[in-house]
Amino acid sequence: MTYTCSMKLTLQLKLLPTPEQHTALLATMRAFNAAASFAAQVAFTAQVFGQPAIHARCYRELRERFGVSSQMAVRAIGKAVETFKRDKTCCPVFRADGAMTYDHHMLGWKDPAHVSLLTLQGRQIVAMVYGEYQAGFMPRLKGQVDLVLRKGTLYLHATIDVPEDPSIHPTHFLGVDLGLVEIATDSEGHSYSGAAIDAVRQRTALARQTFQATGTTSAKRRLKKMAGTQARFQHWVNHGLAKRLVQYAKDTKAALVLEDLTHIRDRITVRRRQRARLQNWSFRQLREFLTYKVQRAGVPLLFVDPRNTSRTCAACAYVDQRNRRSQAVFSCLHCGHTANADHNAARNLATRGAVSRPDFVAPRGSQLAFSW
Ligand SMILES: [Zn+2]
Repeated sequence: MTYTCSMKLTLQLKLLPTPEQHTALLATMRAFNAAASFAAQVAFTAQVFGQPAIHARCYRELRERFGVSSQMAVRAIGKAVETFKRDKTCCPVFRADGAMTYDHHMLGWKDPAHVSLLTLQGRQIVAMVYGEYQAGFMPRLKGQVDLVLRKGTLYLHATIDVPEDPSIHPTHFLGVDLGLVEIATDSEGHSYSGAAIDAVRQRTALARQTFQATGTTSAKRRLKKMAGTQARFQHWVNHGLAKRLVQYAKDTKAALVLEDLTHIRDRITVRRRQRARLQNWSFRQLREFLTYKVQRAGVPLLFVDPRNTSRTCAACAYVDQRNRRSQAVFSCLHCGHTANADHNAARNLATRGAVSRPDFVAPRGSQLAFSW
């Protein structure tokens, strides 16, 4: 049985160059892109589009005219070649601060916090930072990365494949509903977290209001400190929740199904006080954590349209706004099915997962490919 599951993931590593290094990297980027534009011009004029043919015509001139290293010249020609693969009818002119390819000849991973980058002024050991989830993928880094300038900040973008072969083959779908009282409820009726977290959230919100009303310097200082505390707390909770959900899915051979979180703030109709709480809570962060954790665990993750999941009966599929009696209780007007409202919604998510990917839980011996 062949079952492939692969995803291209772009790791973003933020560079923290000294001012001198920043200048050197930018100058290198500009020389590289000017060289690539020049190579494209030579190629287009001669109507040759292969790497060796362009190389033969302009390699030496790129080195002399733009001061780029041997490998930079090769990569600059490569940039022109890639562009011509898509379109040979016009000659590209590359942006001065467009992405620059670094391959293993021009780059070295020194230690977890530093990378060595070749510039026109020789090699520079540059500090970098990245999130803890990216750290898990650092050993997979090989081959080339792109040096990218965005809003004045330099980043390395590395594309990696994860995982080629998942360790689990899903046998069913586990829907997960994200809510306010319980942070998450799954389609088997388990709820994750609850009161303790909510209490902390409310307490910080209340304290914030008090300090904001005061407006003094010390109050502002307290506010700033509190924002950090809350961010760390939220990080910790989301981290733990994602870990438990993914582990459970893996143990029970389930594919996780979540609602498409881009709609969550529009979807939940809440009173003003509840909305304030919701906006302090980062569902996006939870989604990000889940995305990384499922990759490592080999658990498939789907996002489905959440529309009407809270109004639809999981037992008979009857849709009516009045099915949802309150925030907590679901009771079907058609068949009488009564359940915890979040549990009912989670079951609907699981069903939608199954409908959207019928190929997913495949009969034995079948071939399927799943791309994320
Ligand atoms: Zn029903």
